[in-house]
Amino acid sequence: MKVLVFGGGGREHALAWAIARSPRVTELVVAPGNGGIANWGKTCGIPVRCVAVEIKEDAASLEAMLALALAERPQLTVIGPEVPLALGLVDELEKHELRVFGPSQAAAMLETSKAFAKEFMQTNGIPTAAYAVCSSPAEVAESLERFAAPVVVKADGLAAGKGVVICATKLEAEQAAAEMFSGSLLGATVGRVVLEEFLLGEELSFFAVCDGRRAVPLAAAQDHKRIGEGDAGPNTGGMGAYSTDILMPDALRDWLTENVAQRAVDGMAERGTPFKGILFCGIMLVPQPDGTTKPMVLEFNTRFGDPETQALMLRLETDIMDIFESSIDGTADELEISVKPGASVCVIAASAGYPGKYPSGRIIRGLDAARDCGDVTVFHSGTALSEGEIVTAGGRVLGVTACAGDLRSALDLAYRRLAEISFGGMQYRRDIGWRALR
Ligand code: AMP
Repeated sequence: MKVLVFGGGGREHALAWAIARSPRVTELVVAPGNGGIANWGKTCGIPVRCVAVEIKEDAASLEAMLALALAERPQLTVIGPEVPLALGLVDELEKHELRVFGPSQAAAMLETSKAFAKEFMQTNGIPTAAYAVCSSPAEVAESLERFAAPVVVKADGLAAGKGVVICATKLEAEQAAAEMFSGSLLGATVGRVVLEEFLLGEELSFFAVCDGRRAVPLAAAQDHKRIGEGDAGPNTGGMGAYSTDILMPDALRDWLTENVAQRAVDGMAERGTPFKGILFCGIMLVPQPDGTTKPMVLEFNTRFGDPETQALMLRLETDIMDIFESSIDGTADELEISVKPGASVCVIAASAGYPGKYPSGRIIRGLDAARDCGDVTVFHSGTALSEGEIVTAGGRVLGVTACAGDLRSALDLAYRRLAEISFGGMQYRRDIGWRALR
């Protein structure tokens, strides 16, 4: 079977790695992929090609992705990032009778519109923070009277992780909203903002496989968004992630499946926009006076996370093709997902200066694939092949990923592998998993 994966980061490398392990897959195309994926493909056991395509939020990009899929005629297409989902690539591929894993444009609104997601959660009894949707600065000022500081301000729409501002005062919230409306904050104007009650607690990313009717729990992970150790400094795309058994006890898994993921799937089916694909639920576990915690949904994403996927793929024992096929065919209730007991971790090595400006083209040493095995693997995020060398080509460069019987052992494996790798200005956090170790 020939599989096409759209995307070019560490998440797509991890998905490609898992797909290539399936005995059913005979050929893999990654578009655009990256230098590291192309290089890994030489030794992964099946033919792997990276094919250039630009993924961005415009009609020309959608056409280019569609043309590529029609030319390649894969038996299955997997979409990594959110932008092709927002553009409706799934709908386009289905019109041409290509099998594709992921939600339709209408179902992806759970991620592409924060206002839609909040209204949907409220209608469907999914626990989430109090909110208001505002279309003007005047409406923001009026609605803020119903909130106590701090207040969270969210841009309605895809913002590559930059559309959420936590404001200590109402004045700051007014300013953040004004900057979103004017376009000065995100580089593009925003039509609506969501004001949200601030929640304090531990965060958890919960992933469910959905087939339009059923939600089946996959796993949980925790990521590290800030650049600095101890969760200090500016937000990034994610500096590391881990997944352990302890993170999500069975009772919490069952609760989240029933009260969050399945309610979302039921609600989307009722609207006539059934949800298929991965539902990534960003959860805040809010401590209650009686010592328990109450899970509240911060956001939905409609695809795998990066870098959570790198950590999850190392634990996944089930053939990932079974997950994709059951989601497409509506047979998720027959799916038995098996995850290695213990823990896995992904530590991101980033370029100097990231998440601000960073240099590219630095030669990366120590990537010898022979040092990697099923328990330790280096997934490439921002790398390129230049004159036979793998060089840096992004802010997040590599995800050194390991799994073991417990978190500490997985961390030891990952950090030992990371110590063999170097490039000019390499930075990484040394405290991935600190909350769980505490
Ligand atoms: P979102 O894209 O909505 O998940 O927001 C990104 C990040 O902002 C989350 O991972 C949280 O760390 C933080 N955040 C979002 N909403 C809230 C909230 N209501 N209270 C506290 N933190 C939040």
